[in-house]
Amino acid sequence: MAEEKTPNSRPIIDVRGVWKRFGSAEVLKGIDLQIKKSEVTCIIGPSGSGKSTLLRCIAFLEEYSEGEIYIEGELLGFSLENGGRRRVSDAEVDRVRRNVGFVFQQFNLWPHMSALENVAMPLKLSRGMPREEAARRARAMLEKVGLGHRTQAYPSQLSGGQQQRVGIARALAMEPHIMLFDEPTSALDPELVGEVLQVMRDLASEGMTMAVVTHEMGFAAQVADTVMFIDHGIIAASGSPNEVFRENQNSRLRQFLQNYF
Ligand code: ADP
Ligand code: MG
Repeated sequence: MAEEKTPNSRPIIDVRGVWKRFGSAEVLKGIDLQIKKSEVTCIIGPSGSGKSTLLRCIAFLEEYSEGEIYIEGELLGFSLENGGRRRVSDAEVDRVRRNVGFVFQQFNLWPHMSALENVAMPLKLSRGMPREEAARRARAMLEKVGLGHRTQAYPSQLSGGQQQRVGIARALAMEPHIMLFDEPTSALDPELVGEVLQVMRDLASEGMTMAVVTHEMGFAAQVADTVMFIDHGIIAASGSPNEVFRENQNSRLRQFLQNYF
C-alpha cells in the first residue's frame, strides 16, 4: 500500500511473529504488534501472560527466540541472511536500542546517589557526557517531572511516586524516541499513582511514542490509541479502548476485565 511508504505511517516499533521460549516453556507465541510514532499502546492481561517478557524483548533485555523486532526500521539483535538469523554484536544491539527508554515497576534507583546523580550518571557512563552538561540536563529532566525542588534528595528521602518520577526522568534524559513502561505504578501506594500517571499523560500529549503495561484501566481508556490484551503469550484482543473495553466479546478478556469494571 502506498500509505505504508510514507515515513510517518511506518511503525516505529514493529514486532513480527515473535516467539520467546524459556527452555520448554513457550511464553510468547507469535506476537505481532506495530506502534506508530506518537501512538500510545497499553498492554493489559493476567499475571504471567507474557507482558513483561514482551517489553523486555522489545528493549532486548531478553533475547527473543523467533521472529523479528524492528525498531525505527532496523532489525533488533539479529541479522537475516541465507534464510537464517545471526545474533549481531552487543554494540549493534546498543545502537538500535539507543532510542528506547525503559521504566520498571521497581524503580531501580541507586540508593547512595541523589536524584540528580541518578539521572546524570547514565548520561556520563553510556553517553560520555561531561559532568556539567549531564547535571544540567538531569536538573531539566527532574523539573519536567515536577521534582526540580528535590534534586539533592536520596531515594530513601523520596516517596514511591517521587522515586518513580526520578526513574522516568532518568529514562527521558537519554532522549529516547520510544518509552516502554512495565507496570510503572504497581509498586505504589494508591494515593501516589496519580502523580506518576499525570507525568505519563503529559508525555503522551507531547507526542512520545509509548508502550505501557498497566492495570490502570482508566489511564488506558483515556490515553491509549490501542489497547492489547495478552493471554497465555498471545494477543487475544486488540483495538481502540472502546473496542477492547466495551465491544470485544472474547470470553477471557471479559472475565479479566470483570476485575476492573
Ligand atoms: P507478566 O509480566 O504478564 O506477568 P512475564 O512476562 O513476567 O508475565 O512471565 C510470563 C511467563 O514467563 C511466566 O510463566 C514466567 O514464569 C515465565 N518467565 C518469565 N521470565 C522467565 C525466565 N527468566 N525464566 C523462565 N521463565 C520465565
Ligand atoms: Mg510483568
